[in-house]
Amino acid sequence: MKLYISNCKSCGKKIPLNLNAPSRAHIRNIYGDQFSVECSNCCNINDYTPSDIHAESQVNSTIKGGAIGGAIGLLGGPIGLLIGGAIGGAIGNDQDTQEKNQVKRFNRSY
Ligand SMILES: [Zn+2]
Repeated sequence: MKLYISNCKSCGKKIPLNLNAPSRAHIRNIYGDQFSVECSNCCNINDYTPSDIHAESQVNSTIKGGAIGGAIGLLGGPIGLLIGGAIGGAIGNDQDTQEKNQVKRFNRSY
């Protein structure tokens, strides 16, 4: 899961945040009701509140899972590759679902 500020107050671009929190309440606990963020695009520093922060899922976990499964499969020959790929895909999908739930939970938080 990645956190970002949807609109920079100076240039309107998305600012990716290098922090991790399960909800906006956690961010409020750590950073307070207002905090300054430097935009990675225009370098202007503006004040934001926890409600300006949104979460999005990091994609590609299905591919990652497939690669893990593929690696397991390589050890077991061609049939293993197919089975390994399928297992890996399942692992990836599971991570996807977990991630989506975390994102949903964050975006619903206050
Ligand atoms: Zn900016």
